[in-house]
Amino acid sequence: VSQSVELSAILAKMHERTRRLGGWGFEGETVEPSPRMLDWLRSNVGAPGPAVRDNSFPVTLPEPRPLPRLPIAVETTARDRLLHARGQGLIDIIRLRSRTVPAVPDVVVDPVSGLAVFGPGTTGPEVEAALAERGFTLGHFPQSWELATVGGWAATRSSGQESLGYGRIEDLVAGMEIVAPAARWRLHTQPASAAGPDLHRLIMGSEGRLGVITEVTVRARPKPETTAVQAFLAPDLERGLEAVRTLTLSPLPLSMLRLSDAPETAVAMAIGLADSPFAGLARNYLRLRGIGDEACLMLVGASGSGRTVRTALRGAASVLSRVRAVSLGRGPGRHWLRDRFRHPYLREALLDLGWATDTLETAVPWSRAVECRAAVRRALETALESDGERAAVLCHISHPYVDGTSLYFTFFFRTADDPDATIERWARLKRAASDALVSVGATITHHHGIGSWHAPWLETEIGEAGIALVGDAARTMDPEGLINPHVLLDPTDRLRE
Ligand SMILES: Cc1cc2nc3c(=O)[nH]c(=O)nc-3n(C[C@H](O)[C@H](O)[C@H](O)COP(=O)(O)OP(=O)(O)OC[C@H]3O[C@@H](n4cnc5c(N)ncnc54)[C@H](O)[C@@H]3O)c2cc1C
Repeated sequence: VSQSVELSAILAKMHERTRRLGGWGFEGETVEPSPRMLDWLRSNVGAPGPAVRDNSFPVTLPEPRPLPRLPIAVETTARDRLLHARGQGLIDIIRLRSRTVPAVPDVVVDPVSGLAVFGPGTTGPEVEAALAERGFTLGHFPQSWELATVGGWAATRSSGQESLGYGRIEDLVAGMEIVAPAARWRLHTQPASAAGPDLHRLIMGSEGRLGVITEVTVRARPKPETTAVQAFLAPDLERGLEAVRTLTLSPLPLSMLRLSDAPETAVAMAIGLADSPFAGLARNYLRLRGIGDEACLMLVGASGSGRTVRTALRGAASVLSRVRAVSLGRGPGRHWLRDRFRHPYLREALLDLGWATDTLETAVPWSRAVECRAAVRRALETALESDGERAAVLCHISHPYVDGTSLYFTFFFRTADDPDATIERWARLKRAASDALVSVGATITHHHGIGSWHAPWLETEIGEAGIALVGDAARTMDPEGLINPHVLLDPTDRLRE
């Protein structure tokens, strides 16, 4: 399955799909956990808690409040208003499913799309479809690609799975228009500039607090002939990290490097390899090659002409052989490319069964990566101990840089007796992990953004002067503080809301 076949299938189905309300993705499309995954959860987290079933719809909402006449069409159906009432975090979904959403918008303004210069509501598949007509790609594929928008990417500084090759959204956005109560501001497109501080970067990451991004100009590139991903097993995390760092610093034209820790590898192998009739043979062969229980799965991706891809993957294999990693070929990479936007659908299937799962992410210099992973794991694994509850934690690296790397954590826990108690469990896990990140000097977020949940930790990261500067910018654009008042700058702990 080449990447272009996989993307074309998504694009072809795009207009037939209806967005799901009480969960990620589209109606009628679910991903069920395998029996092996359920066994793993039972032994690592415990028997499931109460199911959190989807009771989000139908529902009767209060009538929209009267609004001034708007020059464009607006949607007022209960479904549209609920779809835009919350985000896509775990507690947003619990609130929607249990009908405990505290507030819903009065109306939803229709999105507008364009070519190369995109309207803010243009989704990932729409961006790629428009660019593909001219033989281009943006190369920005966050896991939320099917539903996330260009405006949202810029507002939250998102990072695609192939950021090693294409860069983060900061590198891909060339110009923007932003509209706020006190200003309509156009940041012009220049290939590079030394005209004072880079104000594009002030807007990117402003999460709507400085205004609404109404137009985004992106830097597209010629669509690559092919994308391939090859899998390897490194003997342990230290050697895997060493290989990722060496490859990142090398001139090889790689588009993606991903390294799972041993627990995440064990889960991936239990779900994938264990179903193969050759599982026993494969395990024995790997043990002979020095790959045991500490093995860490690596995915190495390259995009370009067939020749470029072959050269890049051959070069990577040679670096990896130096840390005694073993190649698993391109099969696991093909599966990963095919399923990469489907993994988040599992969250809702687990809620139906009584387990909750969420993710968090950070970035640290290379020298602190091992310490950071250990601190966050410890914090998550022990946060619910006083209630006799466990959390299971998996970790991977997916965005390496010259000076450091991202770390991405997935954690699982049992749901509690009611939605508020489940959210309270989640809040304790989240606070413990956030404190651990700050204690090791890691960023509070590498790509999910600050929002309101991370806002209490922002000042520790950017300092009093940083908060004052962003606050001044917000006052200039929106003197009465009307837009997204609780994101970024409001330090109230809202983890339970
Ligand atoms: C399942 C899942 C997987 C994800 N995977 C990734 C990933 O791989 N990489 C990654 O970087 N992120 C990921 N995310 C996080 C998120 O999807 C991204 O940060 C994305 O950029 C958000 O875009 P959105 O359109 O969904 O914005 P929303 O979630 O709708 O909004 C996010 C924030 O930005 C503000 N905002 C949105 N549009 C605008 C605008 N036009 N102008 C001003 N403010 C605006 C909103 O008010 C809100 O505060 C994931 C999220 C989920 C739920």
